[in-house]
Amino acid sequence: MLIKQRTEPEELKLLRFLNARMELSGKEKNIYLNLEKGLKGELWFDNWIENFSSEWFVLNDLLLESNNSVFQIDTLLITADKMYLFEIKNYEGDFYIQGDKWYTISKSEIKNPILQLERSEMLFRRLLQELGFSSPIESYLIFVNPDFFLYQTPFNLPIVFLSQLNRFKNKLIMNEGILKKRHSKFAEQLVSICLKESPYTRLPKYNYDQLERGVTCAYCYSLMDSLTEGEEIIVCKECGGKENVFSAILRSTEEYKLLFPDRKITTNEIFEWCRGVKSSRSIRRILSEKYELKGHGKYSFFVHNQNDIN
Ligand SMILES: [Zn+2]
Repeated sequence: MLIKQRTEPEELKLLRFLNARMELSGKEKNIYLNLEKGLKGELWFDNWIENFSSEWFVLNDLLLESNNSVFQIDTLLITADKMYLFEIKNYEGDFYIQGDKWYTISKSEIKNPILQLERSEMLFRRLLQELGFSSPIESYLIFVNPDFFLYQTPFNLPIVFLSQLNRFKNKLIMNEGILKKRHSKFAEQLVSICLKESPYTRLPKYNYDQLERGVTCAYCYSLMDSLTEGEEIIVCKECGGKENVFSAILRSTEEYKLLFPDRKITTNEIFEWCRGVKSSRSIRRILSEKYELKGHGKYSFFVHNQNDIN
């Protein structure tokens, strides 16, 4: 049973928008692409695990704190007599291990993901103690990309390759037992103490004037450069994705708010931000449907409708 769904990290959302609207440095672009790729792998795994049992709890994307250290668990599986901690990796290409170091085939060293896994397990064990819950824990690195290969892998490492996943699943199912009240209470408690956003975001510096205006595509996130005034459907030239102008403007407003939490949402600002996709009158009408208008005349601005949790 799915207890906690995965959400797109704020850092990734921001980087997506910035990537469309400004030139990222090579390093920033790398961080961005790795986040996209990581999420894709995690979503693949979510879908895989969702399809085969109800007798355990699945908690995705847990950002937790223990012993003054923040750590993250991609997927936690709570079963009747054990907890499984999974770190999902969507690495692609050839890699090798030498001693306790990991390298790409072109010999550049990468962070050893086993160390990351061990750290998470150690901190999670400690957290369990703090919460007064006891259970054996098993941790695994799961590689989900079919184009990944790891040379010189010692067989005793806690790794599950894509080609082993089915057998791994059978092993999990064999250990299935009945979950008790204490498990669901623990799962709820864990969700309640989850941190909202990682304190370690790696965003480039940006300001309003530096960013290109326009509406980004809802599907491929590229900036849609030619929009025709008066049309109700906008079409992305890159991917062919279509969207109703109404939803595109509201989406762009949310994007604007995420990028510039301190700026006010006004008709003129959104008009400029969407680069004239609609007349400012239409933009005002669209914003009024979703947001609440505060203030009067040229000092008026929009805020989230209190009754609207979306
Ligand atoms: Zn597109």
